[in-house]
Amino acid sequence: THRSMAAEATTTATCGYCSTGCGLRLHLREGAAVGLTPETKYPVNLGMACPKGWESLRVLDSPERATMPLLRDADGNMRPVEWDEALRTFVTEIRGVQERHGDESVAFLSTGQIPSEEMAFLGALTRFGMGIRHGDGNTRQCMATAVTAYKESFGFDAPPYTYDDFEQSDCLVFIGSNPCIAHPIMWERVLRNPNDPAIIVIDPRRTETATAATQHLQIRPKNDLALLYAITNVLIQRDYVDHDFVAALTEGFDELREHVAAYDVESVARQAGISPESIIRTAESIGTGRAVSLWWTMGVNQSYEGTRTAQAIINIALLTGNVGRPGTGANSITGQCNAMGSRLWSNTSNLIGHHRFEDENDRRKVAHTLGMDEASIPSEGSWKYDRIIEGIRRDEIKGLWVIATNPAHSWIHQSDVRELFDKLDFLVVQDMYHTTETAQHANLVLPSAGWGEKEGTFINSERRYGLLKKVRRAPGQALADFHIFRAIAHYWGVGDQFAKWTDPEAVFRILQELSRDQPCDITGIDGYRHLDACGGIQWPWTAADAAKSLGDPEATCGGKPEQERRLFADGHFYRPNGRARFVVDQVREMPERPDPVYPILLLTGRGTVSQWHTQTRTRQSPVLKTLYPTEAYIEINPVDADELGVVHGEKVDVLSRRDEITVTANVTATVQRGQAFMPMHYEITNRLTLPHFDPHSGQPSYKDCAVRIVARNE
Ligand code: SF4
Repeated sequence: THRSMAAEATTTATCGYCSTGCGLRLHLREGAAVGLTPETKYPVNLGMACPKGWESLRVLDSPERATMPLLRDADGNMRPVEWDEALRTFVTEIRGVQERHGDESVAFLSTGQIPSEEMAFLGALTRFGMGIRHGDGNTRQCMATAVTAYKESFGFDAPPYTYDDFEQSDCLVFIGSNPCIAHPIMWERVLRNPNDPAIIVIDPRRTETATAATQHLQIRPKNDLALLYAITNVLIQRDYVDHDFVAALTEGFDELREHVAAYDVESVARQAGISPESIIRTAESIGTGRAVSLWWTMGVNQSYEGTRTAQAIINIALLTGNVGRPGTGANSITGQCNAMGSRLWSNTSNLIGHHRFEDENDRRKVAHTLGMDEASIPSEGSWKYDRIIEGIRRDEIKGLWVIATNPAHSWIHQSDVRELFDKLDFLVVQDMYHTTETAQHANLVLPSAGWGEKEGTFINSERRYGLLKKVRRAPGQALADFHIFRAIAHYWGVGDQFAKWTDPEAVFRILQELSRDQPCDITGIDGYRHLDACGGIQWPWTAADAAKSLGDPEATCGGKPEQERRLFADGHFYRPNGRARFVVDQVREMPERPDPVYPILLLTGRGTVSQWHTQTRTRQSPVLKTLYPTEAYIEINPVDADELGVVHGEKVDVLSRRDEITVTANVTATVQRGQAFMPMHYEITNRLTLPHFDPHSGQPSYKDCAVRIVARNE
């Protein structure tokens, strides 16, 4: 119940960290949140939350919050200024860059952490109002691969599942995915599964999830694509093919069969460092499973052949008819709280709402819906993130606006990107905290409100729109990103173009209209009130769906009491011929293999349930800090440690061809011989990583660079 006027009341809002999208019940006093508990009635988390969610309010009170705009003066010092001066400076400096170097010399880098309405505003303002052509989100670092894979295979970026599938499978396969710590509430849903399911993990590390699995295929890194092809080969040879499904709903089966025939079990097993029996057993589990779901995360996405690996997973689901039924699916788990919103609404690679910049009809439809001049809609999408960074190197990008992300920590080959930021004529950082590594390089810092201090919607991994609520005042002069974009539109002189974009819910209505007749159609949602009453609603929910549900109280929230809504139950995929497509490719060589000089392969990834990405927010919580080592560490196999003279808990130097760092050794058998692992949460990890990318999605390949480890013996 929302009774914010009462002295004591509660209200429910969606968590602002990960893509699970848990519902949190905020306890209010005099209209302001003073505490929270997980929401028992929310269909996502059913009363559960992880430590980050529990600590959501605490991190808002940090002394590192940006409370005033900050402008760098001639001596290089940051001084507080009023908003008027900050906005005038923004316009003068950004326009100045455009006048000197052309409109396209300014770019933006945004995030999966802000609501859809803010993303849409930023994308429309920059690309339709300011002449900025290039902008991308940090979702390029986590989700771009899944987007590309789904589009090519299904015809639309459409994760097909619902969280109830975790509970309905009898065989779950996790590939490059560690939900135990990365998506702990999803893992809790797995633990609620009553079918005593087979849980198969494919991962080079003995992760927390691998430890709990019924089978762990601990492959050598970057053998996942060959392994998936070998599994497919066995499935075909043993005729675990759903022939009716394949014949009626897919295309490309003959090419798939011919392609995977080359991946025989014996040679793939030898190459991957696992037994042939484990491959056959996995194929048998998938082939005989009643309801098989395949789940992937960053181990697949953050790879130089990530798109093809994701499609190899999709191939298996299609081949065995494990799509569109309860407990099935080829299911990419998203990372950030609104990565899915970024995919739909950021207006960067796709014209807002998954339209196409190149399509004249789409441009006309968007212009008409937005009441804008068609000529203001560009006919080309943006450069991808890596090309924007490269554009700075080549002096093509001279001005940059960074919103709610921290690339000076998170981008691959970090020292390079930091040097490039210092080359810019003008760098604007818009963030809750003025202390991020990226803000240290800024000319101007714009202070923004955070989760709990503004309104909007997030879309979680199962395509559910959830509501973010304002339950606190932002500190000092910090403003919701929405209002910063509005103010910039006004100061830039294009306020009239956005006259209807008055508040987040007004923009939500515009987004609904843009979704009309798309696979992601949400025209049946009756505004924020409806989302609030239902505990979120999954897309699609069309006006026709809503009309059909009238008079059926169970159906008004999206069709079923628990809102278990999955895609493709009707056997229709979004490609022009309605069929899903098998996609295959050659397996590629790892670009930087270990060699005698750099003999260890470094893997990176999430290290704990209690920290989030670059720790910008989570390190502000004293509680979360106690749950995780504050000093950077590296996991080293005991045999390697012995040979290198490395002692557990002592310092080691880690050198790559890019840089060298000193960290604490954590000697553990979670990594195999010849491999090491560092969490991405530490600022220094990405000094080592090798800048290389998936050619189809542009996603960085964070999990394979060669290093040397040297004991310091101090
Ligand atoms: Fe928030 Fe994700 Fe934790 Fe749920 S699992 S409480 S959404 S961080």
